[in-house]
Amino acid sequence: MNYDTYGSNAVELAIDLANVDRDDPSWVPAFLDAHAEWFTEGTAVELSDSDIEQVVQTSGLVRDVAMAESEAEVKDRLNALLALASPRPYATDHDGELHLHFARPDAGALEQLTTTVAMGLSQVVVQHGWRRLGVCSAEGCGNVYVDTSRNASRRYCSNTCASRSTVAAYRARQRA
Ligand SMILES: [Zn+2]
Ligand SMILES: [Zn+2]
Repeated sequence: MNYDTYGSNAVELAIDLANVDRDDPSWVPAFLDAHAEWFTEGTAVELSDSDIEQVVQTSGLVRDVAMAESEAEVKDRLNALLALASPRPYATDHDGELHLHFARPDAGALEQLTTTVAMGLSQVVVQHGWRRLGVCSAEGCGNVYVDTSRNASRRYCSNTCASRSTVAAYRARQRA
């Protein structure tokens, strides 16, 4: 899996968006701040209340895609997400290497975010298969992930969850 392209990296933005703590009322501005490198320099990231509602909706849609249990479900949910996107690809070398962006550089923060997330996620699903998306197996986690391992063997959202689960399994064996 080639992970050096913008399209593949953009799926990480989608996964981050799906895994936010939605109980925190100020997660949207915090998320935009933490992911500022995804926006064209100078993009105003202060969103209106209705824009914030849409970011919340997009976060839920990405999660729905990752949690889908069949290709048909993935397709329908991806299309719901893509319906919010306004792709207009353009070539850029802002980081020194020529690559494509999915959103207009002068689009607002909401449009840049929604479009990048929808296109990045779709591209990975279409190229690598919907089974590359999954939900963390660690007890009580529930984060979603994209599996970039060569043999598609990933089960956890993070190394933290993987080692936590290994330790828990070891202790359970000790007790048995
Ligand atoms: Zn770029
Ligand atoms: Zn996890």
